[in-house]
Amino acid sequence: MKITRILAYRVELPLHEVTYKWSGGKSVTVFDSTIVRVDTDAGITGWGEVCPLGPFYLPAYADGVRAGIRELGPHLIGQDPRQLVRLNHLMDAALKGHPYVKSGIDIACWDILGQFANLPVCELLGGRYGESIRLYRAISQESPDEMAAKVASYRAEGYSRFQLKVGGDPDTDIARIFAVAAKLQPGDRLVADANTGWTQHEAVRIAKAVRDVDVYIEQPCLTYEECLAVRRQTPHPFVLDENIDDLGVLLRAKSDLAMDVVNLKISKLGGLTKIRQARDLCVSMGIAMTLEDSWGGDIATAAIAHLAHSTPEAFRFTSTDFNSYVTVSTATGAPQRVNGFMQASTAPGLGIQPRMDVLGAPVVTVA
Ligand code: MG
Repeated sequence: MKITRILAYRVELPLHEVTYKWSGGKSVTVFDSTIVRVDTDAGITGWGEVCPLGPFYLPAYADGVRAGIRELGPHLIGQDPRQLVRLNHLMDAALKGHPYVKSGIDIACWDILGQFANLPVCELLGGRYGESIRLYRAISQESPDEMAAKVASYRAEGYSRFQLKVGGDPDTDIARIFAVAAKLQPGDRLVADANTGWTQHEAVRIAKAVRDVDVYIEQPCLTYEECLAVRRQTPHPFVLDENIDDLGVLLRAKSDLAMDVVNLKISKLGGLTKIRQARDLCVSMGIAMTLEDSWGGDIATAAIAHLAHSTPEAFRFTSTDFNSYVTVSTATGAPQRVNGFMQASTAPGLGIQPRMDVLGAPVVTVA
């Protein structure tokens, strides 16, 4: 089987909540997502999606996905999409770095492999563990009372995992954590994700102020070393995210005992092939994971579901159903949240069918 054509579509994804805000005053109102299509000479077409969280979250931006596919695509025409490790070696040889550019192509090739093998992607990634995947809800940065009210309302929808967007003024963040914690029920889990927004001394002070709250602290500071210093001064379970973008730093963090949970995102690692490697390593090392992506719609959510469902349940901390945050559906067959949980499709591949009327005309064609 050979790749004959790679196309990219640009889709705008507005939010039900209108704006999503996090540390340092950063926000997004309409997400700019790239849907990637890989055609083959066997008549099988695969689909992927890459949607950065704006241009100021990770070293990634929406137009960069399209520009990168224009650069990388010609190297992949004529290659076998089913040979995923080989294909990733080729992509790394043709374009240094830029893992998010490669992510959508890699996801689409897993979709092709699944359709070819007549198996859902989760079974190819290791097997289906358990009935369903527990989801968290990200709580956009607002006043403490507004965030507490949102947690209560999402709790009523079935969520039991909440990730607070903090990383703002330290005193307000302390108030946010206390206000939200007061709304929790037994069995709930709360994560305060500062998204690199605190300086080291602020992070230590905040962690001490909420010492008696049952809360996880996620990526408090910009650098790995600052986070490690905070980690060594707090009793809270600790999550690293932005700093963990390849196997080298993952191994270093394990060696330093720098985290209890790691947040792995498909496009941050560079696709399902590479995140599977990191995921399997985490399982072997005993580190639980939040398995997700930076953002996206139906196709990214389907990829997340296959990744999470193929991960042993003890190591699945949480995942995200981004398609329930956005107002536009780009595909049928994607997972739908039921009472705070979702499931990977049992259909071959990702199990999605794109809505071509929503995708419109391609903005990139490589043939
Ligand atoms: Mg995070």
